[in-house]
Amino acid sequence: MNPGIRPSTTLTVRFILLMTSVIIIGVGLTAGLSGYQNNLMARESAGQAAVDRAITVLDALESAATDESLSRFIFATAAQPMIHRIALLDADGVVVMSSRRAWQRQPAAELTDSGLIDWFDEPVEQHRPEAHWNAETTRAVALAHIRPVNPAAEAVDRLSGGKLFLSVDGEPFLASARQSARFDTLVAAGILLAVMGLFATILQRRVVSPLETLYRRASGAFEDRKGTQPIAKETPQELQTLSRAIDELSDTRLALAKQQERLAGIANTIPGAVYEYRHYDDADDAFTFASAGIISLLGGPEGLSDEARLAFVNETLWSIIVPEDLTIIRQATEIANQGPAQDWQAEFRIDRGAGIRWIWGHASPVDDPLPGQLFRGVLLDSTRRRALEERLERAATHDPLTDALNRGGIAPQLESSVADAQRQGVSLSVFLMDIDHFKTVNDNFGHAVGDAVLRSLVSLVQTRLRRADSLSRWGGEEFLALLPHTGRAGATEIAESVRNAIASASFDHGQPIHVSLGVATLRSGDIVDTLVQRADERLYAAKARGRNCVVAASDRAE
Ligand code: GH3
Ligand code: MG
Ligand code: MG
Repeated sequence: MNPGIRPSTTLTVRFILLMTSVIIIGVGLTAGLSGYQNNLMARESAGQAAVDRAITVLDALESAATDESLSRFIFATAAQPMIHRIALLDADGVVVMSSRRAWQRQPAAELTDSGLIDWFDEPVEQHRPEAHWNAETTRAVALAHIRPVNPAAEAVDRLSGGKLFLSVDGEPFLASARQSARFDTLVAAGILLAVMGLFATILQRRVVSPLETLYRRASGAFEDRKGTQPIAKETPQELQTLSRAIDELSDTRLALAKQQERLAGIANTIPGAVYEYRHYDDADDAFTFASAGIISLLGGPEGLSDEARLAFVNETLWSIIVPEDLTIIRQATEIANQGPAQDWQAEFRIDRGAGIRWIWGHASPVDDPLPGQLFRGVLLDSTRRRALEERLERAATHDPLTDALNRGGIAPQLESSVADAQRQGVSLSVFLMDIDHFKTVNDNFGHAVGDAVLRSLVSLVQTRLRRADSLSRWGGEEFLALLPHTGRAGATEIAESVRNAIASASFDHGQPIHVSLGVATLRSGDIVDTLVQRADERLYAAKARGRNCVVAASDRAE
């Protein structure tokens, strides 16, 4: 019942995708960080180079302080307390050395970004050069009597009495380098995220989503197709082929489920159960399937699963079979498994506490590759049929008025007893009994009273017979008794005892009843007919002798 694709499959796919994303992000971050590092190093070294150049220019300024031809410098600042633009000019005002490459060989008059003079208009206290000196990156230069080219010169003179303190602080270069490196990295990260987003969207549309649809479809194929979505058009060919295969599988499954439901429905309509049973020669036999009806058949708990039901049958059935009937089942099983397997059939009783019930079973052998012999069959509740059969059988063999055996009922016993006695050479006797003048009872008291007399008479005779003897209503008001293992004397004695009991009994209609009896004892060569015939002859003899007597022998001695 378990489908090939389990819920963990989508989890696995999601996990793989997650891990892939984590790896991509990791690689991206590593690349980004190393890019940031490289960028930072490049920019820091550029900043350091600018600082170095500034220091070089300051050195030159210092050494040129006395050189008339190189007596001028310009400076500019970005309103920060540091100088990052320094130039040394020749006498003609052309830049010979500068912290800015672009100024090289340019006439100072044409330099456009050399303004920013506000710094010098402020009070000197705020611009103490020492405050900006830095042991590693700062170089201070004191220059005397240098003529500046721009208006700040006057401020220089005013502030420092002709001396200008210059400092070069590299730190802002480096800070700016870091900032732009960070910015670059942020841009790169943004691009990386955008690319990953795009990648994830494509992955979701083209792989994850079709796979999930396939999964739902495959689950549907084994559970319920409702709720599955059609697979998208742009799904790759292989997935579409797979999807169609799943659809076909699903159709097959639905057809199978329908078929299964139909068979179970049919199996459940029969008043019993269908089953499979495996017989082993040297191991315990077992039911391998039993339809739901087995529960009401055996009287078990409702609502069991298929497995629990099977366990219940295997555990319970043998313990509730009426012990005498176990032999019947064993014999049927032996017969079915002797030589080539053949049909098994048996009828047996179970006792589930609420009365005995009859079960009729029939099974046929089935070829299959597993060990043991498989049988498939049906178990039906045959209690009603059995009861009906018993009623019919009783009606066929018993007299409804007196409940004594009828002629057909005693016939088999007569046949078998006579045959047994002849074969074994043992004695056997019968007597025929007829009511004397019974017609007058009917005539004087009515037919119902006659019926009552017949019933009382049978009860009375039964008290005089032994357990092994049988009494039957032979016809009308004539009765035949079978007395096995009884010779003439014994039979005569019993017949006399019967006659006496009847003669001395009182009946409801207040009149005595008498009977005449003819006794016959088995001779060799006798069959049932000749024996009964002889008893009949003696009954007539008794009537002839005046009735209310027993005749046990013919005129000729027996
Ligand atoms: P006998 O001494 O010669 O036997 O005289 P009898 O009157 O008994 O004569 P017979 O045996 O010929 O008569 C049988 C009578 O038994 C006839 C019939 O009305 C009566 N009888 C037979 N079967 C039944 C029965 O089922 N119920 C009743 N009430 N009477 C029956
Ligand atoms: Mg008669
Ligand atoms: Mg009679």
